[in-house]
Amino acid sequence: MSKRIFNFSAGPATLPLEALKEAQADFLNFQNSGMSIMEMSHRSKVFESVLAQAKGNLIKLLNIPDTHEVLFIQGGASLQFSMVPMNLKLENKPASLINTGSWTKKALKEIQKETTCNVIGTSQDTNFMNLPTVDSELLNQDAAFTYICPNNTIYGTQYKQFPEPLNSPLIADMSSDILSRPLDISKFGLIFAGAQKNVGPSGVTIVIIKKSLLDRSAEQLPSMLNYNSYASSNSLYNTIPTFGIYMISLTTKWLLNEGGLDSINEKNSQKATMLYDFIDQSDFYYCPVKAQDRSSMNVVFRINGGEELEKLFVSESTKAGLDGLKGHRSVGGLRASIYNAHPKEGVEALISFMKEFENVHNKNLVAAS
Ligand SMILES: *Cc1c(COP(=O)(O)O)cnc(C)c1O
Repeated sequence: MSKRIFNFSAGPATLPLEALKEAQADFLNFQNSGMSIMEMSHRSKVFESVLAQAKGNLIKLLNIPDTHEVLFIQGGASLQFSMVPMNLKLENKPASLINTGSWTKKALKEIQKETTCNVIGTSQDTNFMNLPTVDSELLNQDAAFTYICPNNTIYGTQYKQFPEPLNSPLIADMSSDILSRPLDISKFGLIFAGAQKNVGPSGVTIVIIKKSLLDRSAEQLPSMLNYNSYASSNSLYNTIPTFGIYMISLTTKWLLNEGGLDSINEKNSQKATMLYDFIDQSDFYYCPVKAQDRSSMNVVFRINGGEELEKLFVSESTKAGLDGLKGHRSVGGLRASIYNAHPKEGVEALISFMKEFENVHNKNLVAAS
């Protein structure tokens, strides 16, 4: 078998090798059932215990209190842009949203189809290279909910401290940083995350909702779009994406074995600091993101020499076994996504490659000028 490469893709992204190997070993005959996990009823005892593990591991890792429920829903993180306002809107109370880039803009578009929404902060003027400061009066105004995206996958910004609206539940799209660090779940009304960045394969979205908010959903909502359908059926209202749930059970088990969220947070900061420090000391590369707002998951960087060199960087790094370093098509540049499962060795290999690339092309630049 050919060698696995270092995968810097923003998502679907690297999964823990241990989890992949375990899935491979159990693939044809899962727990002596004589079939694979994909071939068995989602209402079987065997699968129910897998579901219980996935959910139980999430509760343990995130220390999810009894006040909150864990749901598994399909439709990706993008469906939550609609489900959140459909279920949580209130008559005569607009929603609030902090605009930190593409994902909150897409959410805003869907929220506005359901209810009025005030943008109470935006960093559009810097092309989202920092997080906006929000006026506390606006933050604390009476609202149906306040919507944020804690880690902005495309721009490489990440909240280190979350806004704490006093008069509305906080809703967070944590698709690209859930399980990367400890969280105080009690501060959130609802958290959602598509699994494919930091938790598992695409096809499952984790929703953690404060139980008291379940009362808000109107009965006329289509059942598949009503959080209560999932909450009242242990997410088994219809056929759950069984393989995805199984993979989540394995990646969360891996995380627990790694020492949980404090430990992974430490490792994530080390990896990110290593890369940012290298970029900052170089005059060939630079990071356009404001230092205090930089993400530990998605490291966005540029080359001073311009776009042609960035293109070359992408193709040469791919040849060197470092894949997925092209920035998002909407912002260009370069991006290294280094989620939980991305090994430190991958970051070290990237830095070595960056040094070599700089040595070759920085000289050329000097010689040409
Ligand atoms: C990737 C991503 C999404 C979109 O996820 P889908 O599952 O493809 O809908 C939404 N929000 C954030 C922050 C993301 O990183």
